[in-house]
Amino acid sequence: MKKLNLVDYHMHTVRCGHAEGRMEEYAAQALEVGLREIGFSDHFPLLHIEDKTLAMGLEELPLYVGEVGEVRAKFPQLPIRLGIEVDYIPGYEDRLSSLLAEHPFDYIMGSLHFVDGWGFDDPRNLDGYEGRDLFQLWRRYFELLGDAAESGLFDVLAHPDLIKKFGFRPDADVTCLYRECLDRVAAAGVAVEVSTAGLRKPVGEIYPSEGFLRLCHDRGIAVTLGSDAHRPGEVGDRLEEALPLLRRVGYGEVAVFEARVRAYLALPEGG
Ligand code: ZN
Ligand code: FE
Ligand code: FE
Ligand code: ZN
Repeated sequence: MKKLNLVDYHMHTVRCGHAEGRMEEYAAQALEVGLREIGFSDHFPLLHIEDKTLAMGLEELPLYVGEVGEVRAKFPQLPIRLGIEVDYIPGYEDRLSSLLAEHPFDYIMGSLHFVDGWGFDDPRNLDGYEGRDLFQLWRRYFELLGDAAESGLFDVLAHPDLIKKFGFRPDADVTCLYRECLDRVAAAGVAVEVSTAGLRKPVGEIYPSEGFLRLCHDRGIAVTLGSDAHRPGEVGDRLEEALPLLRRVGYGEVAVFEARVRAYLALPEGG
């Protein structure tokens, strides 16, 4: 098997209620495919609703932190970072900030899976798309993504154009929405994730789109890489397809984090 020589900063654990496999299997798969560094980033407890199929409970957070420490001790040959994927819900910033400060996270990913209370990426909520003005939906999504960046809570914005997940797109040009959002992301100094999870979803493409990523590069926004693995076999999944995209757009390095301090790793040369 061709070795990836990349990083995967987005993977889940059984704690979130919709992933499978032992954490050791995720780490072993990372070594198998040749990843040079990984980070677990399981779903942080949801504060605005109760749903154990979407995220761990608050009481599980210290257990998750301990488990990442345990798997790290078992794989000294593989740098394993302690990350977390946190839903950005307006109004919960202070509560999130104090809860996140309780643990020694290496990086914190901000995600939008809810727009004004609607879990738009959950297949159980697909009826919410019926009759919706998609341009207004996208406008609100990218406005919230800018708010998330400016909240100061996050190091990275995960799967930044997740709103395209099911392939429902506005007819109108959305470049203006991207620009407004990314001006704010750049000013806030937050990185964005290039995620191969979209390749496994109805939209069938990487998050974010090439156009979006070009606007990121123009603004000097750093990128991380992730598979959003919810089972061991997805660790490093199709990251080799993200590499030519990153190179085309002009990226030669990806951001990595330790104790919330950003550093950069050069992307491997050649094809
Ligand atoms: Zn998940
Ligand atoms: Fe997510
Ligand atoms: Fe995720
Ligand atoms: Zn995710």
